[in-house]
Amino acid sequence: MAALPQPPTILSFEEARHVVEGQAAQVRPRTKEKVDLLASLGRVLAEPIAADRDFPPFRRAMRDGYALRAADLASLPATLDVIGEIKAGAPPEAVPREVGAGQAAAIMTGAPAPNGADAVVMVEYTSLSGKRVTVTRSVARGDNIVEAGSEARKGQFLLHHGTRMDYGAIALAASVGLQSISVFRRPEVAILSTGDEIVEIGERPGPHQIRNSNSYSLAAQVQQAGSVPKMLGIARDEADHLRGLIEQGMEHDLLLLTGGVSMGRYDLVEQVLAELSAEFFFTGAQIQPGRPVVFGRVRERYFFGLPGNPISTMVTFELFARPMLEALAGMAARELCFVHARLKSEIKTKTGLTRFLPALLSGEFEETEVELAGWHGSGDVAAMARSNCYLVIPPDREKIAAGEWVAILMR
Ligand code: AMP
Ligand code: MG
Repeated sequence: MAALPQPPTILSFEEARHVVEGQAAQVRPRTKEKVDLLASLGRVLAEPIAADRDFPPFRRAMRDGYALRAADLASLPATLDVIGEIKAGAPPEAVPREVGAGQAAAIMTGAPAPNGADAVVMVEYTSLSGKRVTVTRSVARGDNIVEAGSEARKGQFLLHHGTRMDYGAIALAASVGLQSISVFRRPEVAILSTGDEIVEIGERPGPHQIRNSNSYSLAAQVQQAGSVPKMLGIARDEADHLRGLIEQGMEHDLLLLTGGVSMGRYDLVEQVLAELSAEFFFTGAQIQPGRPVVFGRVRERYFFGLPGNPISTMVTFELFARPMLEALAGMAARELCFVHARLKSEIKTKTGLTRFLPALLSGEFEETEVELAGWHGSGDVAAMARSNCYLVIPPDREKIAAGEWVAILMR
């Protein structure tokens, strides 16, 4: 029987994250496919999107009002001759040739601004009487007109490959006329729970048994990351059974295990992986929850051994598995993004670990505050479900006072 990976490699949070990012940087998905525009939501661009023409394609009015020469409003009120009306969608021949000094053209939002006019004054600041308009507010040159090509030039790349499609990206693709999008194949992620006490959620658990929630939280996180979960069920705490399922998991793009990575006599995950000649990049991180987290590679497949406590599983997925999964999906690397808020009530803790604790961000505008979700440890799924972010406590802090700014990782 192979020994446990030696020596155990326990890294700080930053070091462990760095190791994952280093491995993720070497991953390059190759398989592309074409999908309909709307089906590309959440998928990762395999080819850049370029402007098919200038944006906007013509000088566009941004307001309903009058196109005129800003210099004509030097003294107010100013009265100008209205020489025509330009609707959105007006073809070039319907647009007055030129707006001259002392003239204005009524114009609608989205219509092409006529030559000569260098600004649009909003209709709210005008009154029309016959063919004369009186303007009561001045404008600067350029006000309420977007110049042709000022947003983008024809041929310019607007989104790079590696971008995950969201509704903004869908709008962009639609505006350049793309009906189908080239995206990377979605990675398939094997999810394997372990533990003799774990039962499937359709079963009636005995008093000594626990329902398998981790496979579901992981599957949800995998889906949210744009990948396809493959549920492999529950491995018993028994080497041969575990090995068989791990070998099945190695057929997919990434293997996520949960449970069986602590110091207990029946925590066999690392041992079985070592027998399969796995390479271990780390076997623990100085974090809470999730300290026993394991990251490695076995026969060209990356795997994570996530600690079985439900909160630990969820947190370690977010911190470590997600960047690897995003790389497998073809996404450009991005840094972990923290925001800051004021702490609602004092926290006392111990130094040594970076903590990511389920927390609740609430309030609005300047009143935003964060507080711990009142959890009872790494198994408290209810506290997790009530929370909407993680409060990050650096390893050197023993006490954080109410009112201090603290870092938050959004969910
Ligand atoms: P382990 O990491 O295997 O020592 O498990 C730690 C704790 O997490 C134990 O209390 C387990 O019962 C619990 N646990 C492990 N796997 C799961 C799972 N799939 N779903 C829910 N709880 C789990
Ligand atoms: Mg276990």
